[in-house]
Parts: sequence; C-alpha cells; structure tokens
Amino acid sequence: MGERTAKPRAKVLETAPVSAPALKISTPVVTEAATVVSALPVIAGPSLLDALDRVEGDTLERTCEDLGECTRCKLHKTRNKIVFGAGNPRAELVFVGEGPGHDEDLQGLPFVGRAGKLLTQMIEAMGLTREDVYICNVVKCRPPENRKPEEDEVATCSPYLFRQLDAIAPKAIVCLGATAAQALLKTTDSISRFRGTWFDYRNTRLMATYHPAYLLRNPAAKGEVWKDLQKVMAHLGLQPRKSSK
Ligand code: SF4
Repeated sequence: MGERTAKPRAKVLETAPVSAPALKISTPVVTEAATVVSALPVIAGPSLLDALDRVEGDTLERTCEDLGECTRCKLHKTRNKIVFGAGNPRAELVFVGEGPGHDEDLQGLPFVGRAGKLLTQMIEAMGLTREDVYICNVVKCRPPENRKPEEDEVATCSPYLFRQLDAIAPKAIVCLGATAAQALLKTTDSISRFRGTWFDYRNTRLMATYHPAYLLRNPAAKGEVWKDLQKVMAHLGLQPRKSSK
C-alpha cells in the first residue's frame, strides 16, 4: 500500500547552485539569487494558527521556566536531563535537531556526542563558532534507545521549539534531519525531496539538510550537506573559515 505524503506547507525559495566539494573548504561564497518556486503550496505570511502559538514578548528564559521539570509526555520517564538548547540567544543562525542522545541526556546539552563534534566542524567550516549560533532539538528529552520521537511526543514538545525560534528570531534556521524539518514544515515528505531548498517559516528562511549522525554513517553525503550550508552562508553573508596549514 502506497504511503501518503504531504508537501511542506511553507513558501519555497530556491537559491542558485554553488560549486563546492566538501566540509573542509577553500572555495569562495557565491552571492545569493533567490527566486520563488511555485511547484509546492505556499503560505503568503503568518497564519492565524501561527499567531495563536506566539507568546507576546517571549524569551528563552520564560520558555525554559514554563517547560520546568516537564512531565507532559512519556519521554520524561526515561530521561536523565532535559536538553533545552544552548548558544547565542540572539543568534542569526539556529540549528534544530531531532532529540537528545546518550551524551546529551547525561550532560543536559545539545549535540555533544560524536554527531555533535561533526556539527561543530560544520559550524566552524562556515566561519562561525558554536557560541555564535543556537542549537536545540524538537524534543527535549532523550527517546529510549535513541528511537525516533513519536508523533504525540513531537506534538507535545514542539510548541516549546516554536517559542524558542520566535524568541531568538534568527535570520536562518537549519533543520538537521527529517524529524526537525517535518515538525517545522508540517510535512511527512521525505527529506531527500526537499533538502537544500529554502522555505519560509514564519518569515524566516528555513532549510533542511541531513543530520550529522546520518553523515557519520554515510560520509559520502557530506558534499551535499556542504552545498546546503553554502546557501545558508550566502544568505548570512558568511565567508568560509580559511584552512590552517
Ligand atoms: S520531551 Fe518535551 S514534552 Fe516530553 S517530557 Fe520532555 S520536555 Fe516535556
């Protein structure tokens, strides 16, 4: 039986392709040339539902306080620490992953395991540090055995992610992996169909790319991710870090 999928319900933008090979790079950043692609459904601006989600004058501190020692979904039963998020509260760039893993659950910090080290390399290749960006996840508690968060868990926890993004108001959001992209774009489509494409999420540019954990298993996909990140760099006016000899 064929699986039904929903297209991302956000405005789609396309950036001119760039030529760059890998994460360790010395290629120049291309200038951005965005045009609207009409192949997928678009929303012209924030919807009434978006407005209902918003909390006037919200901050990360308030969101974290409201989350508290959360027991709103079943993931609280097996977690060690809530992983709220970390980084610059005024970041221009936010990375959103799926959920904490083993190391993150122990430390209460996002992306500190092997995948986190690769994410740090990706950030540094973009000419930034982890302190420049903000990093968080769709669910704040580790799913048992690192399984994918279930629909009810994503639905319960993601409003706190929406509040984080509203409070930071970055210039760009990069979704790491399908779970984050599907939660923010409200789609069940496969990430391979829309990664590397710009979307409009509540008037902020959003792009999905592969999760660093996927890259650890499939290093050949690093080149695709680097192309995606170059589009983000062009949007933010970033230059790649010069490689040290
Ligand atoms: S995953 Fe989110 S909603 Fe579920 S218990 Fe943790 S903080 Fe609460």
